[in-house]
Amino acid sequence: MSTYKEFHRRSISDPEGFWDEQAKLIHWHKPFAKVLDYSRPPFAKWFVGGETNLCYNAVDRHLEDRSDRNALIFVSTETDSEKTYSFRELHAEVNRCAAMMQSLGVDKGDRVLIYMPMIPEACFAMLACARIGAIHSVVFGGFASHSLASRIDDASPKLVISADAGSRAGKVVPYKPLLDEAIRLAKFPPAKVILFDRGLDPGMARVAGRDLDWVELRAQHLNAQVPCVWLESNEPSYILYTSGTTGHPKGVQRDVGGHAVALAASMKHIYCGNAGETYFSTSDIGWVVGHSYIIYGPLIAGMATIMYEGTPVRPDAGILWKIVEKYKVTVMFSAPTAIRVLKKQDQAFLKKYDLSSLRYLFLAGEPLDEPSHRWITEGLGRPVIDHYWQTETGWPLLTSVPGVEQTPIKFGSPSFPAYGYNVKLLHETTTEEVGTGEKGVVVIVPPLPPGCMSTVWGDDERFVKTYFETIPGKLVYSTFDWGIRDKDGYYFILGRTDDVINVAGHRLGTREIEEAISSHPAIAEVAVIGAADQLKGQVPVAFAVLKDPSQIESSAGRMKLEGDIMKTVDQQLGAIGRPARVHFVTLLPKTRSGKVLRRSIQSICDGRDPGDLTTIEDPGALQQVRDAIAGKA
Ligand code: AMP
Repeated sequence: MSTYKEFHRRSISDPEGFWDEQAKLIHWHKPFAKVLDYSRPPFAKWFVGGETNLCYNAVDRHLEDRSDRNALIFVSTETDSEKTYSFRELHAEVNRCAAMMQSLGVDKGDRVLIYMPMIPEACFAMLACARIGAIHSVVFGGFASHSLASRIDDASPKLVISADAGSRAGKVVPYKPLLDEAIRLAKFPPAKVILFDRGLDPGMARVAGRDLDWVELRAQHLNAQVPCVWLESNEPSYILYTSGTTGHPKGVQRDVGGHAVALAASMKHIYCGNAGETYFSTSDIGWVVGHSYIIYGPLIAGMATIMYEGTPVRPDAGILWKIVEKYKVTVMFSAPTAIRVLKKQDQAFLKKYDLSSLRYLFLAGEPLDEPSHRWITEGLGRPVIDHYWQTETGWPLLTSVPGVEQTPIKFGSPSFPAYGYNVKLLHETTTEEVGTGEKGVVVIVPPLPPGCMSTVWGDDERFVKTYFETIPGKLVYSTFDWGIRDKDGYYFILGRTDDVINVAGHRLGTREIEEAISSHPAIAEVAVIGAADQLKGQVPVAFAVLKDPSQIESSAGRMKLEGDIMKTVDQQLGAIGRPARVHFVTLLPKTRSGKVLRRSIQSICDGRDPGDLTTIEDPGALQQVRDAIAGKA
């Protein structure tokens, strides 16, 4: 493995030389004066003084060589539509959208919140923001009013761009009522809203003077030419909220130059995607994978990118492979949950289509179990690369790097640290590096490489405190994941060290769900944990203490209340946070100092030993958890 090892070693021992070379992969309007400024640890500034633009690199740069080649391929099995845009057409749409935003007073540095389904207009809006130096904050369409309102308040966007509705598994999901409610709840409501009316929700209400129609506005800017605004490399490009241990999501802020260079380098070294080919990520623009590998990464590399609105099993379990065949996809990116869903279907679907174009399938977002890894590798007859990353890193931090060297894949392992990442496994209490086969916290020795978050939006202190001050006496970035390394240097991720759970590849803070449940008037106290689930990896399960237990004396009363609580979560956070079960108990297992023993509850739910219970206040509480799960309560 000398080549991979050498590549990685150089990136750590000479980061400036290494990244100076990678920076040549993108267009710089003005060259940078310094590769790295690390004078204020842990804040890393990459490509200082350089000026560039993400939209220019993703779109304009390709006009000369491939203006008529596909750039964006939209496939919706929800609305039965398909549409392709060449780089020239994408350029025109992005210019129109940029002009629309400018006509509403959106300027460099202003925030634009994008709350949209997987439609091309969402891509235009993101790139238009990048073009004019506005900062986009894309909010996943599955989030409901309360989540949306807190993001509106944190980012205080001048403009919100949304649509009448999305569609999920054939069912229309209206967006506008949730948006209206969020704006009503928000302390800093946006002045304007642009709505793309898909005709899915004929009853969509509009607020006069605030809500504008995308199609009408676009018609006013058909021939718009909006120059790219050149940004200093370290200016913010976007904010993306992610969950942590508090009830308040953090705004992960990313820069411009480092972001572009990191993505361009990853397209070359990790994904092996070439200009003129097609990239297919099954994620959603509301997640970091959607930002990096539906929009920016593939386009920066001059590839066509597929935006897919639909599920992996409609109209049948062959749909993803049908798309691969039709658009000759060379690189594909999905999540373990999708593979587990497909595994339950007829394997014949994998053989039905011509997948000869496909070089690699990459998977990320949650632990990939060995049987699923094996099943999909054998089914495809192609390398399936599990790689590990976070919203914060923006690109993989543990991965095989086949563009440098094709190292053997081990099932269940995301391989090795990617170039640029100085990864260590530290012992939980001694904080020393652990040995082979020993469990440790996965940390990165700063500076973080280009493309990683530059800070928490509006809160430098929270950035330092949250990520760099968790290991006593050591300034290292904590991933909050447990990992081990085997004798061959392969890493395995064992799960989170904190109270964050991972549902179908999406990170959810148990605190956020607890806060939503607590807003129900019947609830005195609640603890949410992530219980193991065959399909989704984990699902939230709640243990609630009621103010008045007489409410659940009858089983009908119990069922009604459980349903009501689930509805409350749907309304506040969105169905994504809905607990699979709400169990009622009369007390929660706590330490004598009053801390809820979530991990012990979780162990019981997963059928494991609850661990050290010497500090528990009342062991009867754990028995109640056991009884509740066994259906005795
Ligand atoms: P998010 O920022 O929402 O993408 O979630 C990141 C978290 O997902 C990580 O901290 C891990 O807990 C988990 N994760 C992502 N990729 C993997 C992977 N390949 N294997 C195991 N866990 C993963």
